[in-house]
Amino acid sequence: MVEINSVGVIGAGQMGSGIAHVCALKGFKVGLHDTSPDRIEAGLATINGNLTRQVAGKKISEEERVEALGRIHPVLTLDEFGDYDLVIEAATENETVKRKIFSALCPSLKPEAMVGTNTSSISITRLAASTDRPERFIGIHFMNPVPVMQLVELVRGIATEDETFDAAKQFVARLGKTIAVSEDFPAFMVNRILLPMINEAIYTLYEGVGSVDAIDTAMRLGANHPMGPLQLADFIGLDTCLSIMQVLYEGLADSKYRPCPLLVKYVEAGWLGRKTQRGFYDYRGETPVPTR
Ligand code: NAD
Repeated sequence: MVEINSVGVIGAGQMGSGIAHVCALKGFKVGLHDTSPDRIEAGLATINGNLTRQVAGKKISEEERVEALGRIHPVLTLDEFGDYDLVIEAATENETVKRKIFSALCPSLKPEAMVGTNTSSISITRLAASTDRPERFIGIHFMNPVPVMQLVELVRGIATEDETFDAAKQFVARLGKTIAVSEDFPAFMVNRILLPMINEAIYTLYEGVGSVDAIDTAMRLGANHPMGPLQLADFIGLDTCLSIMQVLYEGLADSKYRPCPLLVKYVEAGWLGRKTQRGFYDYRGETPVPTR
């Protein structure tokens, strides 16, 4: 079985920085790549901020923070992943973007290296087919925020070998997380269930049934959800929510998954939620203010 000691992460956004964070804390050598040095720096700053918060909360020691940061290396070009055992792609949820990354990445990798994707919804089998190693390709779907959330969905493509699956299981176990195995269908399990609920909340807003505040309060206090669905949508990122709904709509060919036009409008405005400071709430002040 491939022994995983080093992990490359492509995409230093919310998820990539979280994956780098947990891998570094558990002792893996980590390489972090994004489209520009600035984005890698921003990812590293996020990781440092989150590690510092863990120190303040007494979850880790100051020494662990420093050691973890020391294990994360900025990777400016994909050919620097040549000696990594596993590379996880966590770039924007767009199939064309991901396919381009895999075709640029694979020629530099050692033959036995495994490739994982953190996609929330796109077919693992189809993504695997754009690599030179579908048998060593697997969906490793972390939840947001990665340092806090316990679950990882493992998704095999049609060609994924048992050895790859077993190595991925061991890797997730070393991170101290729990797996749920999903078949390779659009959006897997968590998002197949969660995103239609969020999309329905956006329809509820769009149709004027309730305000942002009323809908979130209703679901927090009425269904005992820790966050309201619109709050959660902002947290996930509205571009990611829209992409997942599009994958469900197209992949399952059922009109019940049609993305709400209001979600499309927010994405077109560039109001993508927390990461752009505005979505269903405006985060530019001290407390979030509903935008509708
Ligand atoms: P994000 O927008 O925060 O980060 C995406 C990052 O990818 C950006 O920094 C962007 O610059 C980078 N990127 C884009 N094109 C690239 C390229 N060609 N090469 C290298 N980097 C590139 O998005 P995110 O929330 O971190 O989502 C990333 C992936 O994780 C998506 O596939 C998403 O579906 C998945 N995911 C998201 C969540 C969530 O709750 N946000 C949860 C689980 C999985």
